Amino acid sequence: MAYDPQNVFAKILRDEMPCIPVYEDAQTLAFMDIMPQTDGHTLVIPKAPAETIFELAPEDARALISSTQKVARAVKAALDAPGVILAQINGAAAGQTVPHVHFHIIPRHEGEPLGLHASQLADPEKLKGFAARIVACLGAD
Ligand code: AMP
Repeated sequence: MAYDPQNVFAKILRDEMPCIPVYEDAQTLAFMDIMPQTDGHTLVIPKAPAETIFELAPEDARALISSTQKVARAVKAALDAPGVILAQINGAAAGQTVPHVHFHIIPRHEGEPLGLHASQLADPEKLKGFAARIVACLGAD
């Protein structure tokens, strides 16, 4: 299927919609998930227009996983999380809801429930607080 340039992450990349950013470089952007499954749930996207991992050029895939590793390290430290889920969903049949490829970084603590996927908007002020902690940990990298 053709890439839809009106998807929400494409709009964020064009500054047509706001996000709460934590990291950006020439090829990728990371920001807080507005409907987090746990505190600190962060997304990493390539700037290249690709719906799924399968349309992504190898150099953009490399940049995406490299940024995901870097940001996940900071999320883990910022949330003091003993575990972290990295998830990447391809296609509506698999549960993808935004048609621009992305990695989910979901910090995990023993016994903490995992929220439902893309179901409940979080308080933006709370998200900004987590973002500041993640940015501080990225700075200490
Ligand atoms: P997926 O279902 O794997 O495509 O994941 C899409 C994710 O994007 C979900 O976890 C949503 O909560 C999240 N999301 C949707 N709209 C926004 C937005 N405007 N800013 C940040 N995260 C979003």
